[in-house]
Amino acid sequence: MTESMDAKKPTIVVSRCLGFCKCRYNGDVLSSAFVESLKPHVNYITTCPEVEIGLGVPRNPVRLVSRNGSVELYQPSEDKTVTDQMNQYSEAFFGSVGLIQGLILKGRSPSCGIKDVKIYSGVEKSSSSQKGIGIFAAHAIKRYPNLPIEEEGRLSNYAIREHFLTKLYTVFRFQAVKDSRSMKELVQFHSGHKFLLMAYNQTQLRLLGKIVANQEKKRIDEVLAQYEQHLGLAFGRLPTRNNYINTFQHIFGYFSDALSEKEKSFLLDRFQKYREGKIHISAILNVLRTYAIQHNHEYLLNQAIWSAYPEELLDISDSGK
Ligand code: SF4
Repeated sequence: MTESMDAKKPTIVVSRCLGFCKCRYNGDVLSSAFVESLKPHVNYITTCPEVEIGLGVPRNPVRLVSRNGSVELYQPSEDKTVTDQMNQYSEAFFGSVGLIQGLILKGRSPSCGIKDVKIYSGVEKSSSSQKGIGIFAAHAIKRYPNLPIEEEGRLSNYAIREHFLTKLYTVFRFQAVKDSRSMKELVQFHSGHKFLLMAYNQTQLRLLGKIVANQEKKRIDEVLAQYEQHLGLAFGRLPTRNNYINTFQHIFGYFSDALSEKEKSFLLDRFQKYREGKIHISAILNVLRTYAIQHNHEYLLNQAIWSAYPEELLDISDSGK
């Protein structure tokens, strides 16, 4: 971590053309409202892999080309293949970047795109036949299977953005546990993330519980490595509404006996409305949290599910894409 980095904030690698530098092939810079909104909350490490391998700005575009069974990064105007340069740069970059907790990359780029990047069927042909991953992005995905990695365009979708932020900050909180190398910290982390994990993946929640119980008396480093792997699996995909409702019902169970029939039926009605997609999840979380406060339920109040990431970043707008 360099001096300008704030250890209290997560660190994200971001494509440099997303608001930091006019480094696109045509000398443009793009704006991303989400990348901008995160600026006060994270440390950004920017890179433009194409500039870093010496292609310059402006430059003639590169593309992914399928050749002899492998995918190459090719610059048609120069009849030049730069796959080796990009592979070497990516290895060197990720080998030296230090600890990071997430990546935001520019979509559809043959270097940075994480999905649906056009792969042309040959150097001569102008039509694209398949979709794939940018070369730099492929290195990132391979090296960081447990980190949130997203494209800026997809982050305009509420559910994808929520998932990205939840995973980012959970990974960041877990990093502090790893640094502490303390079983006590791990137990506390697991306990405080119980309902968030339940909403994401109940099978992994159970496995994580077994890892923390550590019946085999494994060394702390081994326990942490195993926990990290399964934490990554738990956050591997977006949570479903049904999983969330099941989690709400568990939370509800903590104080349902103290509620009047009218309060109970109001809450159950809220769950149903959420199931039908008629109300936002934050409406339910707020009601449940209010009850947790009213009943001064410390275990519940300490749960990460209420605000898995800083509240200032909550933005319920949705591109619908
Ligand atoms: S998409 Fe990646 S390689 Fe292309 S301009 Fe942006 S940062 Fe550079």
